[in-house]
Amino acid sequence: MTEPTRRGGISVETEHIFPVIKKWLYSEKDIFLRELVSNASDAVTKLRRLASLGQYDPNGETYRIDVRLDKEEKTLTISDNGIGMTEEEVETYICKIALSGAFDFIQKYEGENKSSGIIGHFGLGFYSAFMVSDSVELVTKSYTDAPALRWVCSSDGSYESFSAERNGHGTDVILHISDEEAEYLNRNKISEILDKYCSFMPVEIYFTDADDKKEEGKEETPINDVSPLWLKNPSDCTPEEYKEFYRKVFHDFREPLFWIHINADYPLNFRGILYFPKLNNEYESIEGQVKLYYNQVFVADNIKEVIPEYLLMLKGVLDCPELPLNVSRSYLQNNTYVSKVSAHIVKKVADKLNSLCTTEREEYEKIFSSIRTFIEYACMRDQKFYDRVKDSLLLELTDGTFTTTKDYLERAKETHENTVYYASDKASQAQYISMFTAEGIEVAVFANPLDVQFLATLESAYDPDVKYLRIDSDVAKALKTDETAEENKDLTALFQKVSGNEKLKVVFAALKDEQVPLLLTVSEESRRLDEMIKLYAASGMGFSMPQATEETLTVNTASPLIKKLASMEGEKKEQMASYLYRLSLISQRKLGAEELQQFLKDSYTILGGLE
Ligand code: ADP
Repeated sequence: MTEPTRRGGISVETEHIFPVIKKWLYSEKDIFLRELVSNASDAVTKLRRLASLGQYDPNGETYRIDVRLDKEEKTLTISDNGIGMTEEEVETYICKIALSGAFDFIQKYEGENKSSGIIGHFGLGFYSAFMVSDSVELVTKSYTDAPALRWVCSSDGSYESFSAERNGHGTDVILHISDEEAEYLNRNKISEILDKYCSFMPVEIYFTDADDKKEEGKEETPINDVSPLWLKNPSDCTPEEYKEFYRKVFHDFREPLFWIHINADYPLNFRGILYFPKLNNEYESIEGQVKLYYNQVFVADNIKEVIPEYLLMLKGVLDCPELPLNVSRSYLQNNTYVSKVSAHIVKKVADKLNSLCTTEREEYEKIFSSIRTFIEYACMRDQKFYDRVKDSLLLELTDGTFTTTKDYLERAKETHENTVYYASDKASQAQYISMFTAEGIEVAVFANPLDVQFLATLESAYDPDVKYLRIDSDVAKALKTDETAEENKDLTALFQKVSGNEKLKVVFAALKDEQVPLLLTVSEESRRLDEMIKLYAASGMGFSMPQATEETLTVNTASPLIKKLASMEGEKKEQMASYLYRLSLISQRKLGAEELQQFLKDSYTILGGLE
C-alpha cells in the first residue's frame, strides 16, 4: 500500500457539515450531478481561455466530459480534460474554499423552509457529491507539469491524497454511491438528470454505462447541444430552427404559433426564446413551461419572480447569467435587477404582438383566436401590459372577420358611440344578430368564459368610457326608429298576465324590423350580476339562489302582428299574446321542459285550426 503524501481532516466544521449535506434537500438530490458536470465544464472553459490568451497550446485537442456509470463497482465518474489541479490547488480549492463555500451555504439556508428555499440551489458545489456518496475520489492532473494525484475523502470528512498516474490533464471525480442512494446507479435515472440539467452545457458530454458492450466503429453522440439556439444572433436563425428547437426541448409536436427571441445586452444581459404554444381556449388547461438557465446550466422551471405568472403560459428558455440564484425567493422578489428582467420580457411580448398586428395582420388574425384568452388574461393581470397592447386587441365579428376595437369605435361613432355590441352565442342569438346586421351595426363575439370578467375589467378600470352591451340587452335603443310609440295600457296588462309576471316591464317602441313583434331583453347589468352570482354559487362561495333577473318586454308597434293583436278581442287575443310572448322567450333563452310541452301543444292546436 502506498503511503499518503498528505493527510488531513476537513477542519472543525466538517463534523457539522457532512451530516447536513447528506440529508440536504431530499427532493433536490439530483443536482449533485449538475454541480459536478458544471465544474467539469468550467475546468474546460478555463483551459480554453488560457489557450485563447496564448498561455496554453491546445495542439488540436478536443474537449469533452465523460459521465461513466459502473453498477458493479457502484461508482459514477465525471471526467473532464480541462485545467486539472495540482496538489496545492486541491488543498486550497477543494479542502478550504469549496468546503467553506458549502459551509456558508448551508449555514445560511439550513433553517429555511426547504421547498420554498433557494432557487436552483446553486453554491453547494463540489460537496453536494456527498449527498449520494460514501466517499469521493479525485484523480487530477494539472495542465502544468505538476504530477497527478489521487485524493480520497470519506463521508466523515477525513481525506488522504496519494501520488498517482493520469493520462493527460484533467480531473476524474469518482463517486462511491452509498447503498441508500442506489437509484443513482440506474442508467435511466442518470440519463434523465443529465437531460434535464446538462442539455445545453458548452462542452460535449458523453454518457456511458459499463454494462454496455462497446460497439466498434459506432459513433459516439454527446447528450448535449453545446451551442443552443438562444445564443445565436436572431437574424441568423431560420423558422425551421426555431420549430426544431421547440420540438426538441418541449416535446410538443404541434407547431408553436410564433416566438420571440430576446437578446438583451448590458446591463440586463440575458437571452432567451419564448414560444406561444397552440392554446386551447379554456385558460385553466393551459400550462406552459419557461426553463431558466444560468450560463447554459438548467436551474429551474417557471420561476415566477423572473417571469410574470401570466406569461408562464408560454414555453421557452431564458438564460440569465447575471441572476443572483444563490438566494432565497423573497430576496428575488425584491431585487431590482430581477424586476427589470421581468419588465423587459413583458415589453418584448407586447412589442411582438404589436408588430404582428401592424406588419403581419393576416397572420395575426389567423392566430388571434388561439392567443386571445392568453392576451385577455394577461391584460387583466397587468394594466401596463394592457396599455401596451390595447391597440392590437382585435374584436372578432359575427361574420368571422376581425377589427381592432379602435377601428370598430371609429365606425360606430354615428350610430352607437363608445358602445361595442357583442354576442355571446351566435346560434341562440341569431335573431338579434340578423337584426343588428340589417341595421349595419357590427356585432363582436365574446363567447369564452373569461370574456365576462375581461369586459368588466375594461369597463370598470381600464377604459370606462367604452361600454360593452350584449345584443339582447338593449335592443330597443339600438334598433328603434325615430317614430314615437304610444304606450298601450291594455297590451301592457295583457302581457303581464300571459307572462305570469305582474311586474314585467313592458315598453313600446317602433323597431326598424317590422317582422319582430316582441323582444324580451335583460339589462346588461342585471344579466352580468346574475352570471356572477351563478359563478359564485357554482364555485361554492355562497349565494345559493340566483336572483330573478329583471326582464323588459319591448313591444314593436311597427309590427303588423302587434297591430293585429291590438285590434283583437277576448280569448283569442289572450291566446295570441301568450303565443307571441313565448316566441320572444324562445329567442331570448330556452324554454323550460313544461313550457316547451305547453308551447308544442298550443302550436298543434293553432295548426289544427288553419284552413
Ligand atoms: P464553485 O464551482 O462554485 O467554485 P465548487 O465547490 O464546485 O465551487 O468547486 C470549488 C473549486 O474547486 C472550483 O472553483 C475549482 O477551482 C475547483 N474544482 C472543482 N471541480 C474541478 C474540476 N473538475 N477541475 C478543476 N477544478 C475543479
